[in-house]
Amino acid sequence: MDRLKDKVAIITGASRGIGRAIAEVFQSEGARLVLTARENLSALRDFKGAKVIQLDLSNKKQIDTLVAEAIKVFSRIDILVNNAGIFKQTSFELISEEELDSFLNVDFKGTFLLTQRVFAQMKKQGAGKIINIASGAGKLGSSKAIHYAAVKSALISLTKSLAKLGGSCNIWVNAVAPGFIETDMISAMLKERRERIEESIPLKRIGKADEVARAVLFLASNESDYISGQTLCVDGGHCMI
Ligand code: NAP
Repeated sequence: MDRLKDKVAIITGASRGIGRAIAEVFQSEGARLVLTARENLSALRDFKGAKVIQLDLSNKKQIDTLVAEAIKVFSRIDILVNNAGIFKQTSFELISEEELDSFLNVDFKGTFLLTQRVFAQMKKQGAGKIINIASGAGKLGSSKAIHYAAVKSALISLTKSLAKLGGSCNIWVNAVAPGFIETDMISAMLKERRERIEESIPLKRIGKADEVARAVLFLASNESDYISGQTLCVDGGHCMI
């Protein structure tokens, strides 16, 4: 129950889905939480003692405020979980420049800038753990969401590079690549072709947000102290590379 006792953890996109499940698991393991939501801040009311901060990852000022507030309230940042993200399936020929920019800004640039600021703080402290929520699409590719798969690949590459940079200052950087997980993000897709998707997964079922959260907990805790630069797939065996 105390695997993250008194650790200060920022979790982005904690209002629902996987981010919320991570916040619940972290709280039950004794972490002190800094949680972000884009609009629905009231969704985070149940997290007693947590600092709740508004964050749209495409807003640089809000990124700076998040880091400054976290340090002001808790004096340190031990764990960063880059979870917030967007997803959409659009035919390659129909992806507009505007849509591409929104994926680059939210799923990559915002996460990059936030990580840059938190990394600097962790370096000062002499320790920290960063976990990026990537996607199986970033490893396998996706013909239906090419922009999404490309930015998630970039996040996996960022994970490896930062693990190389952070190793000598006790900063661990890993990623989790969920497969198909039951959340709002893929509900339309599941409505349309749930059976076909389940058939393609070795464990023959869609995953639960809590199952991703348990893998994130492992990477945030001391139990993973000799693991860095890795991308752990949580996907019922869907991606084996
Ligand atoms: P979700 O249910 O759609 O939740 C997404 C979260 O991200 C929400 O808290 C949302 O906040 C936040 N968010 C969206 N746009 C944002 C922005 N511009 N700035 C800051 N926060 C923003 O998605 P999920 O399924 O939990 O996904 C969480 C992560 O897992 C994502 O990175 C996703 O790519 C990854 N993933 C999910 C699956 C899956 O099958 N579900 C598979 C692979 C990877 P609001 O509530 O304010 O919109």
